[in-house]
Amino acid sequence: MATTDACSSAMSLIPRVRLVSVTGAKHREMGILRSSFVFFALGLLLTLSSASESEVDDETPFTYIEGTGKGPKEWGQIDPHWQACGMGKLQSPIDLLNERVQVFPNLGKLKRDYKPAPAVVKNRGHDITVTWKGDAGKININGTYYNLLQCHWHSPSEHTFNGSRYDLELHMVHLNSHEEIAVIGIVYKYGRPDPFLTKLLEHITVVGKEDTDLGVINPGIIKFGSRKYFRYIGSLTVPPCTEGVVWTIVRKVRTVSRKQVEALREAVHDGYEANARPTQQLDGRAVWLYTPGDNGGAA
Ligand SMILES: [Zn+2]
Repeated sequence: MATTDACSSAMSLIPRVRLVSVTGAKHREMGILRSSFVFFALGLLLTLSSASESEVDDETPFTYIEGTGKGPKEWGQIDPHWQACGMGKLQSPIDLLNERVQVFPNLGKLKRDYKPAPAVVKNRGHDITVTWKGDAGKININGTYYNLLQCHWHSPSEHTFNGSRYDLELHMVHLNSHEEIAVIGIVYKYGRPDPFLTKLLEHITVVGKEDTDLGVINPGIIKFGSRKYFRYIGSLTVPPCTEGVVWTIVRKVRTVSRKQVEALREAVHDGYEANARPTQQLDGRAVWLYTPGDNGGAA
């Protein structure tokens, strides 16, 4: 089975160059054109991406629309490997309800050590994904290092705060040496443009299903407060909904312009403009809020 989603399995999270599933002839043709006539090739890329819409649909056999037979309530029945989507007890996203969280003061700010690395952007049909092809650095959670692999956007936000859904959510996907996944989620409301998206906007509007080089991208330009964050154990929010994901949701709400969210929504394929999975049952799970105490205000 074709990999449906780079977020879908630990294996597919490993950065690699992936070939488009157009015919070999078209692909070779694209290779030649890209090396010599960049603009012409970009045009061809656009043509190919719209011409091969049905192929993208085949690679993304789930939707966010209930009643289609492939909506979120049915994800668990679409593929035997996706059963966790329906039967799992540690599913994401969730509502982060104030009364439910356990506050842990001074357990440390989020330790990140990102560095610039070559990156590509691609349209996965259901979202836009930026993948780093080199060592883009890591985060440290309870002494374990997780390397940054890729990031992608959901709009509106998937996680909700006391039932409130924000306008956008960025997921930064990391993997440790045991192929365990840690995701940092950052939510945005409409306001001033987000600097990271500003840098990527021209690429997002033309990106196809093939990797498009972005040059060197410094993940450090993705701004997020590191002092207050929610932590819980959940799952991938797209099939196969793999469980055991260490979630970190930054509490500070950042801003993004309407134009930027519209660009992301226009770039993904029809029917995926809203690509947020509904919130899932907590089923007795603990949710922690890490926050500096009275004396922990440094940094
Ligand atoms: Zn995601």
